[in-house]
Amino acid sequence: MSKEIVENIRIIKSRIAHACKKYGRDPNEVKLLLATKTVPADRVAVALLNGETLIAENKVQELKGKYDALESIPHVNHFIGHLQSNKVKDIVKYNVRCLQSLDRLDLAEKLHQRLVLEDKKMDVLIQVNTSDEDSKFGIAPQDTLDLVKHVSKLNTLKIKGLMTIGLLSSEADKVIPCFRMLRRLQQEIRALNLPNVEMNELSMGMSGDLEIAIAEGATMVRVGTAIFGERYYPDSYYWDETIVVS
Ligand SMILES: *Cc1c(COP(=O)(O)O)cnc(C)c1O
Repeated sequence: MSKEIVENIRIIKSRIAHACKKYGRDPNEVKLLLATKTVPADRVAVALLNGETLIAENKVQELKGKYDALESIPHVNHFIGHLQSNKVKDIVKYNVRCLQSLDRLDLAEKLHQRLVLEDKKMDVLIQVNTSDEDSKFGIAPQDTLDLVKHVSKLNTLKIKGLMTIGLLSSEADKVIPCFRMLRRLQQEIRALNLPNVEMNELSMGMSGDLEIAIAEGATMVRVGTAIFGERYYPDSYYWDETIVVS
């Protein structure tokens, strides 16, 4: 089992390296983030002990559940799932360094209040819904700049860039417009030089479409299945909390 994880990481890294070469990207500018939803802590630990450092959960419950087991192994926690406002204290408590799924102002304000209270700061990415699918979270592209401007006034939050899931399709011509839209938004916002806004990070691309994302400018790809294997729950369970899994 653990050999398999190590081998899968090697394969993913070579896919990233090939894509960088093919599309003229600097491999140092594309980070690998491990999406660890449903993966038990001992399997996550295999990846961390193999030298990976960036991991991300979708649910607070899982973040909490694996925290003790992973605490002694150096790593950085991101959060990539839909976050309810009443759970912000948990992501602060469990040392999330970057919230990639910030998609609304009330969430940013709650998080800010909590961070002020604890005298901490947090990186954030604004999650954009680039595929126009109702079932996915993220702010509408046309509302993104406005949200960025408001969030930039909350001094505990550092806006590092944008994140998207994109259209889940194996057809490149359907996925590319999503990633292109995210990059165009990033460039438009970056050109404004807003205070407290860096806009260097583009988190896009997953197991099935990371090459396309790298071609379109991703600085971080989020990979789960291709490293840890198929998940038991459908992704809709993580992306749409109105769906109940029995
Ligand atoms: C699960 C997940 C991923 C990884 O998806 P895979 O197809 O398993 O690589 C990336 N981003 C988000 C937000 C996820 O929930």
